[in-house]
Amino acid sequence: MIDNIIDNSSIQALCALLEKSRNCLILTHSRPDGDAIGSSLALAHFIKNTGCEATIVVPNDYPPFLAWMPGIESIIINDKQQTAAEEAIQKADLIFCLDFNALSRIDEVGEKVSSTTAPKILIDHHLFPDDIFDVAISHPEACSTAELVFRTIWQMGRADALTKEAAECIYTGIMTDTGNFAYASSRKDIYHIVAELISKGIDKDIIYRRVFYNYSFSRMRLMGYMMYEKLKYYPERNAALLTLTYDELKRFNGAKGDTEGIVNMPLQIKGTRFSCFLREESKGKINVSLRSVDEFPCNEVAAKFFNGGGHKNASGGEVRGTMEEAEQLFIKTLEEFSAELTE
Ligand code: 5GP
Ligand code: MN
Repeated sequence: MIDNIIDNSSIQALCALLEKSRNCLILTHSRPDGDAIGSSLALAHFIKNTGCEATIVVPNDYPPFLAWMPGIESIIINDKQQTAAEEAIQKADLIFCLDFNALSRIDEVGEKVSSTTAPKILIDHHLFPDDIFDVAISHPEACSTAELVFRTIWQMGRADALTKEAAECIYTGIMTDTGNFAYASSRKDIYHIVAELISKGIDKDIIYRRVFYNYSFSRMRLMGYMMYEKLKYYPERNAALLTLTYDELKRFNGAKGDTEGIVNMPLQIKGTRFSCFLREESKGKINVSLRSVDEFPCNEVAAKFFNGGGHKNASGGEVRGTMEEAEQLFIKTLEEFSAELTE
């Protein structure tokens, strides 16, 4: 029922490497989201269950709404635990790179890893992966890296070694990267995979509440403020812009993860094709999140204007400059892509 989309030679090469490895290292991207953490934890649970060590290193902290995830307490956060991260990198005899496509996406961790000789395995769904991996399981058509972790284990014929905890982590990755099955989720296999996960004993409704009904009162107020005061709409371009300065975030006692999902909200306005969220991360550094629907390629916008990239309908980047400069760049994107936005 579940098609084998990963080529057999990759699966076999991976099995051979796993067989002779003792210490696996799992890496995922900066500002890790539900798919980054979910796919990494699921793979770690699986590897440990088959008798090998597995350590996860992330560049920086995960948002609090993921804190419930089984095994998350053992993740090493490079920002806070430099020595432990370095030790884990040095000790590794096999390195998995999950949910990112280039070492530059994992900051300083990428520099440390690039000098190691351990074989490197990519499992990811971003376009244009780097050419540095010994085994590359790269499928941009997959809804999430968690889906690919499931498929890898499935095609290894080892679904028996997937515990309920691992299944919860895979489900979280699929659920968050598809906006609870609102986008990138129209392939039948996703639902066969979900059925397999449910047969492991997970409760998908509880996972939904743990992730999406887990915000503070102040986050709700921040949302109200953003929608009432900060949303700009460009009907002639079917586009929307949200901006948030560091001071505004502090005014609402904004915590890590509180701006998650905000960029998707303007897409609810009838006809909207493109949404942009500019968030001041620190003085002179603006984080850019872009979302689009259908064929509008927001990753091209990210690459051309915001020094970034990503998926066709979900991408990001940054601006080194002021919020005003970032806004001006956004206005320029509307001009540059006006044909695609209005066609
Ligand atoms: P988010 O808006 O959730 O931060 O990012 C959405 C997606 O955009 C991520 O999954 C990632 O694929 C991509 N992305 C975000 N920031 C960057 C960036 O700076 N560079 C690249 N290449 N991709 C990014
Ligand atoms: Mn992902």
